[in-house]
Amino acid sequence: MKDYLIVGCGLAGIAFAEKAIQHQKTITVFENYSQNSSTVAAGLYNPVILKRFSEVWNAQEQLAILQQFYHQIQFKLETQFDFPLPIFRKIYSIQEQNDWFLATDKPSLAPFLSAEINHVKFNEIDSPMGYGEVLQSGYVDTALLLQQYQNYLSILNVFSKETFNYEEVVIHPDFISYQNEQYKHVVFAEGFGIHANPFFSCLPVDGTKGELLTIKAPDLKLEAIVKSSIFIIPIGNDLYKVGATYNWQDKTPSTTQEGKKELIDSLKNLINCDFEIVNHSAGVRPTVKDRRPLVGTHPNYPRLHVLNGLGTRGVMLAPSMAKSLYDTIENEIPLSLEIDIQRLKKINWH
Ligand SMILES: Cc1cc2nc3c(=O)[nH]c(=O)nc-3n(C[C@H](O)[C@H](O)[C@H](O)COP(=O)(O)OP(=O)(O)OC[C@H]3O[C@@H](n4cnc5c(N)ncnc54)[C@H](O)[C@@H]3O)c2cc1C
Repeated sequence: MKDYLIVGCGLAGIAFAEKAIQHQKTITVFENYSQNSSTVAAGLYNPVILKRFSEVWNAQEQLAILQQFYHQIQFKLETQFDFPLPIFRKIYSIQEQNDWFLATDKPSLAPFLSAEINHVKFNEIDSPMGYGEVLQSGYVDTALLLQQYQNYLSILNVFSKETFNYEEVVIHPDFISYQNEQYKHVVFAEGFGIHANPFFSCLPVDGTKGELLTIKAPDLKLEAIVKSSIFIIPIGNDLYKVGATYNWQDKTPSTTQEGKKELIDSLKNLINCDFEIVNHSAGVRPTVKDRRPLVGTHPNYPRLHVLNGLGTRGVMLAPSMAKSLYDTIENEIPLSLEIDIQRLKKINWH
């Protein structure tokens, strides 16, 4: 009997698979490439909400787990995925300068914010009021991570490029069987694909579509992430990721002309130089109205678990949420009620 069957190999599935492997558990991972949120993600991790200058929920703890997690995988796969870079938030007014200073006085935010307004001059970007500099931020090359981690699972012979068929799940008191194999537990990590899952489709994953551009801009010469209404992330060779849009109505993963236009308009407002669009991608983020992840165990089937609702922050959340789920399954450490699916009282479980 294997320990875990994991459905989905995005950021959530990878984080749980890695946790299980580190503890010498046996796994099989299913991936059918039906969702692509983790592949197209800009990969930014940022402990500060830059609209309001407030702290991201549990940022300190998540960052500590994030660093350990990505560095262990980098070491194991001998590839760099994590690129620490400061974020320069463009400041638009005296009021925003004051808000920045007020934020730096808060003990929870002080480790993440420069004490002064930075008046650095970037090529091709005007910002007469300067920038607030965010520390302990950066980006993870999620597409590369997924590709390399899935290769690694294939080499271990535990990766199946197949659609997981929910109808073939047979629940026994002491194990789950699926296609002639037996497993102690199943972890569902299908992102927005959760809606096809008869056990967990009742969970409120709304989905927020996002679009992203990759541009080539040889004159820009940025070496930090710049954030205004959009962000620009330098990824090397004069290439930059530019994003992202938020669309709460359209739940399809296809790119749109409106999304592209919105990003181009914002970019032209921010930078003065020419650029060429080299890629345009889209995906549906697994967002939840209360903005907290959905982690836990099915109330009627104690061997079925869910790791979802990573929303707009999968890079930061996946490692710590996978750890919490693993600790509750293996070590009976209770989940915090903020992330536990038990917090949702009005669910009709089947
Ligand atoms: C444009 C855009 C930009 C973003 N930028 C950032 C960012 O800068 N920073 C950040 O932290 N987050 C960002 N995000 C959000 C981030 O992508 C998500 O939080 C994260 O990817 C969710 O990961 P997941 O593994 O839960 O879901 P997914 O990435 O959707 O993974 C689920 C996987 O399950 C597979 N699957 C589903 N059903 C089945 C089945 N039946 N059988 C087999 N496989 C199945 C899917 O194919 C998919 O690969 C962005 C998202 C978008 C769309």
